[in-house]
Formats: sequence, C-alpha cells, structure tokens
Amino acid sequence: MLSDRRAWIEGRDVVCSGVAAPPRRTWRLVLLGAPGVGKGTQAELLSQALGVCGLSLGDVFRAARDSTNHSPTMVTALEHMDQGELVPDQTVMGLLLERRRCFKCPARMGFLLDGFPRTLAQAEALDRVLERGAVGLDAVLSYELPIDTIVARLGGRRVCPQCKSIYHLASRPPLRKGLCDHCNLALEHRPDDRPQALRTRMRIHEENTLPLLEFYRRRGLLVSISADGAPEEILKRTLDASPFAGPGELVAS
Ligand code: AMP
Repeated sequence: MLSDRRAWIEGRDVVCSGVAAPPRRTWRLVLLGAPGVGKGTQAELLSQALGVCGLSLGDVFRAARDSTNHSPTMVTALEHMDQGELVPDQTVMGLLLERRRCFKCPARMGFLLDGFPRTLAQAEALDRVLERGAVGLDAVLSYELPIDTIVARLGGRRVCPQCKSIYHLASRPPLRKGLCDHCNLALEHRPDDRPQALRTRMRIHEENTLPLLEFYRRRGLLVSISADGAPEEILKRTLDASPFAGPGELVAS
C-alpha cells in the first residue's frame, strides 16, 4: 500500500498513513525532464515498483490551491505557477526545509523527487539538506524526448483533481470519458498546461536544465532515459537501466 504523503503535502508535524512494509532496499531518486515528457506518470509507476514515496512540489502547490487558507507567500507562488513560471527559489527552499523529515522517513523506503530541483540553487540546497540528514542520492533520472512530441503530449493531458492520477486523451484515456478511474471526478486541464503558460514553461526549463544536468553528471549520478513510447515501456527501460539493473536490487511490484 502506498502512503497518503500527507507529511509532504501539508508539511509541519502531520504524519502519513497507509505506509507499506519495508522493502529490500532504499532508493533516493530525483526525476528530471521537460514538462510533458511523462515524468509524473513515471513517478507514479516507479513509486509503486520500488515502494518509494513520490514527492512533488507541484502537488504541494496544487493541494494548496484547493485549500481555503493561503499565506501571502503561497498566493504569490500560485500566481507564478499559473503563468507557467517557476516559483521563486526562496519559497521553494522554505517548503523543502519544512518537509526535510520526509527524506529520512523511518517508515518508508526512500523517496523520489519529481520536478525538484529545477534550478542550480535548488540542487545545492537539496545537497545541503540531505548532507545534514546524512543521506545521499542514488541516482538522478533524466527523461528525454524531442520537443514536438512533448507539445503533442501536453495538449491531451488531463489530471484528476483529487488523486492526481494523470491521463491522456489519446494514449492513456480514462475508462469513462472525462472521469477519473479511481475517484469518478471530472478530469481537469491544468492552467499551466494551456498554450501560453506552456511556452513559458518550456523556455524556463531549457534555461535551467542544462546546468542541472551538468551538476549531476559531474557527481556521477545522472542516468539519461528515452521517454519515447508507452508509460509501461518507459518504466521497463528505467528499471533495466543502471542503477536498478544490479542483481537482486529490485522489489517486486
Ligand atoms: P509540475 O507539476 O512539477 O510540473 O509543477 C507545476 C508547477 O509548480 C511548475 O510549473 C512551477 O510553477 C511549480 N513548481 C513545481 N516544482 C517547482 C520547483 N522545484 N521550483 C519552482 N517551481 C516549481
């Protein structure tokens, strides 16, 4: 069973429920990739396959939007998000610090950071937080795909407002048109997936990613993975890649 990730989504002293039994080994991973490469879907599938907790700041912001009580900082963060811009590093680092105990969760088997870090300053802040907790990353998975394919994918992406499951009108349609398979709620087209916001996101991604890739390549952590094909094919490609390919490393899904 996967945890409900409440400690990550809400921060502070909240405790997660629905925690799985400990697996054979712990994985601490970062997922990188342009918007639309299918990173969120891989995060979901990998979390299940490896038994790790999927942690996404995008989910934190979307959950904050659904709540009624916004701090001024969160209001500004959501404005940036809706324009397709990155939330300022200072806000992001504050949220990270608030949630640092998730990196050493005693009941879980590691974590998978989806969409964090996105800037060099965030990568350096993450290093410091992990160092202080005496934990290190096992790998940084970089999902790669030509830009035309990305644009086609994003046009059809739909998300469940409740469980955050991701669908695609063409390649991963829900069982019932427009409704989440799990929650039966109407699927949403995210404001930051709309054309103008998308163009901004792609430009920002390109500006920030190269230094990040170099940062992790130098540390020997970077694993490049083609994000072409169906989600299950990409998952298999990921699990076949180093560092997962070692004998007896994987937890049965
Ligand atoms: P995602 O779901 O990861 O694509 O994130 C959605 C939006 O949340 C992004 O377009 C940003 O506005 C914001 N966001 C998520 N993660 C970060 C981050 N690490 N740094 C800055 N902004 C972020």
